[in-house]
Amino acid sequence: MTTNGTDRVTVLGLGAMGGALAGALVQTGRATTVWNRSPGRADDLVAQGAKAAATVRDAVRSSPVVIVCLLDHASVHEVLDPIADELRGRTLVNVTTTTPAQAREAAAWAAGAGAGYLDGGIMAVPHMIGRPEASILYSGSADAFRRHKPLLDTWGTATYFGEDAGLASLYDLALLAGMYVMFAGFMHGAAMVAPAGVTAREFAAMAAPWLTAMTGGLAGFAEIIDGGDYTVPGQQSLEFSDLRHIVDASAEQGIGTEAIAMVQRLIRRQIDAGHGEEGFARIIESIRRPV
Ligand code: NDP
Repeated sequence: MTTNGTDRVTVLGLGAMGGALAGALVQTGRATTVWNRSPGRADDLVAQGAKAAATVRDAVRSSPVVIVCLLDHASVHEVLDPIADELRGRTLVNVTTTTPAQAREAAAWAAGAGAGYLDGGIMAVPHMIGRPEASILYSGSADAFRRHKPLLDTWGTATYFGEDAGLASLYDLALLAGMYVMFAGFMHGAAMVAPAGVTAREFAAMAAPWLTAMTGGLAGFAEIIDGGDYTVPGQQSLEFSDLRHIVDASAEQGIGTEAIAMVQRLIRRQIDAGHGEEGFARIIESIRRPV
């Protein structure tokens, strides 16, 4: 058991994720106080040894460290604003998903209330919490991250990005952006083959190893992007990457073309600007400079 200020901890918000975070803390034997707006959600945790607080104020008073896992930024203010006077000298660890600007606003607000502030971005689903593959990104107070690292380690792999409280959220949302566009690509492919009688399950069996193999190219793209020279030999050119045939084949299958046409537009803008012989990684310039 750690005694560096993290042996007593409070968790505000016992939804799917807050409940998992609180459960992991209870498992480590920490004195865990929990609070949720709607009654009933603490029952299982109380059965495991947590203490349920009747009010947010009581919950916050119980511990030097307060974990906040609510729906969104607005709900964080709704819950904390009325008890701001109770936060002085405590540390808030806010793992509610917010934008970077909202995370910075929360950090400034917490500083005004005399509290330390660490923002967190959870790259995991609830059942992963407590295992190393649950990656949780943090930014904000370096001192809070260092002091409470044993607590944070109980949830998964903790990575710290710096004092700017918005950084964890920025990484979180950037990683999710990559994931969602990849998912949309998979859905597009599944929709393409469906009229040929191929089930999504059959397509997934082909797509998963293919996409996994393709992620091996990310480091190469990154090297080109960081070097800023899209003419380095050996790259697949933008002209070669023209996706017209994929767009046409999608239309022939009678499906929507938005997902693949979006990538085609990024490519076309660079070709039209005279960069057709340069590498595919150059489409990042279409994204960086929106029309
Ligand atoms: P849930 O919808 O399961 O729970 C939402 C929680 O927020 C509940 O405790 C709810 O209370 C509370 N809440 C909502 N609005 C208010 C309010 N105005 N005042 C007080 N409490 C409020 O969401 P999750 O637990 O899944 O997610 C919580 C956070 O974790 C979100 O920001 C989410 O993006 C993030 N997250 C979740 C992941 C997941 O896989 N679930 C993955 C990564 C991040 P009540 O019970 O009263 O409704």
